[in-house]
Amino acid sequence: MGTGKRLGWLTTATALVLAVVMVIVMGKDDGTAQNAAAQTSATPTTTTTPGPITPLGQPAPAGPTPTLPAPTGQQPAWMRKLKPGEKPPQFVLFSFDGGVSAKHWEAITPIAKRTGARVTAMLSGVYLLSEDQANQYTGPGHKPGESAIGFGGSPADITARIKYLNDALDAGHEFGTHYNGHFCEGEGAPVGSWSTAGWNSEIDQFDRYLRALDARGLRITPEMIKGGRTPCLEGNWDQLFPAAHAHNYVYDTSHVSFGVTWPTVDRGMWEFPLPEVRIPALDRKVVMMDFNFWYVLDGAKEGDDARGPEFSPIVLDTYRSTYLAAYNGNRAPLVVANHFNEWAGGAFSTAVQDFMSETCTKPETVCATYSQVIQWMQLQDPAVLDAFRKLPAAHN
Ligand SMILES: [Zn+2]
Repeated sequence: MGTGKRLGWLTTATALVLAVVMVIVMGKDDGTAQNAAAQTSATPTTTTTPGPITPLGQPAPAGPTPTLPAPTGQQPAWMRKLKPGEKPPQFVLFSFDGGVSAKHWEAITPIAKRTGARVTAMLSGVYLLSEDQANQYTGPGHKPGESAIGFGGSPADITARIKYLNDALDAGHEFGTHYNGHFCEGEGAPVGSWSTAGWNSEIDQFDRYLRALDARGLRITPEMIKGGRTPCLEGNWDQLFPAAHAHNYVYDTSHVSFGVTWPTVDRGMWEFPLPEVRIPALDRKVVMMDFNFWYVLDGAKEGDDARGPEFSPIVLDTYRSTYLAAYNGNRAPLVVANHFNEWAGGAFSTAVQDFMSETCTKPETVCATYSQVIQWMQLQDPAVLDAFRKLPAAHN
C-alpha cells in the first residue's frame, strides 16, 4: 500500500512518527470514496491558514490547569491523595488509535478484565461512517469524501461496531479522538497546516458522527470525549488547542518526550507525551509507538508477516525495560500508544497484549485511562506533582 514511499521524505528516526496509512484496521482501500469526491464540485474550505505559532525555543505558556469532574461511584483504592512522601502508583496508559476492530477488542477485553486494566481508544471518526456516507466528511482543505484511511465499511459493519464499542464502554474503557481523515505530512492539506477554524470543523464533524449513531444505539457521546491524539503526532498546537478547548477537551497525547516524563499543562491542556526510548536489542532510539518500531525494525515493509515472531520479543523487551526504568525512577505515567493493527504478522499487537497481561497486575502498578490519571492528579497537592516533574526523566 505504498507505506515506504509515503515515508520517503523522512530523514531521521525521531522525525518518524507513525504514519499510519490505510492499513489500520479497516483493511480496505477506499477508491470508491475518492472517486465520488472527485466528481463533486464543492467549494474548497478556507480553514487551513494557521496564524502565528509559538516561536521555537520559547516554552509554551502553561495556561490554566484544566479539570474534570471528580469520578463518581465506587472507586479503586489507588484513587486518593498520596500520603506525605508516598510514591505514586506506576500508571500505564494503554491507548489504541483508530479504535475500531472487533478482533482487537476481542483480544484486549479478556486481558483487561482479568488484570483490571482500563484502556483508552482514540476513535477515528471516519470509521463511524459507512462507505456510502463518505461525502458527509469534508476534511479541512479537502474535498468531501476524502480520507487517508478510508471509511467504516458497510452499514452492517457499523451496526456490529456500535455493539462492541458499547461493550467496551460498559467495561470501563475510555474513548478519545484520533480525529477523522488522518491527513499526515506529505499529503495535501495535512493536519499540521490546519487553523483553529479547521480543527473546529474537524471536531464538529467527529461529534456529528457520534450523535448520528445515537439513534442506532451508540452510547458514546461527544461529551465523553475529553482529548485525543493527532494523526502521525502532527499538528500546530497553537491552532489545535483552542479548538480542543472549545470542545471541552482537557488532554492531548501527541507530543514526544525524551524518556518517560510526567504530564505537564501546556496552553491549558494536560499533555501526556509519548516517550522516546531505547530498543535494547538494537541499541537504537524510537518514539514508543507501534508504527515507529516497525519502521526501525524493517522500514515498515509490507508482507513481512513471517518476521513477527522475531520482532515481537524485541518490542516486548523495550516495554519491559521502559516500565522498569519508570517504576524504579520517577514513576511518571507510561504512555503505551498503539493502533489496532496486524503489521508484521501482528507482532506489535502481540507485544502490547503480552505486556498488558503481565504488567497490569504488578504491585503498585495501575493500568488506567487518561481521565482516571487526570482525576488522580487533581487529588494531589500541586507542589507534590511539581516535585515529580522535577525528577529526571526515566530512560531504559
Ligand atoms: Zn494514526
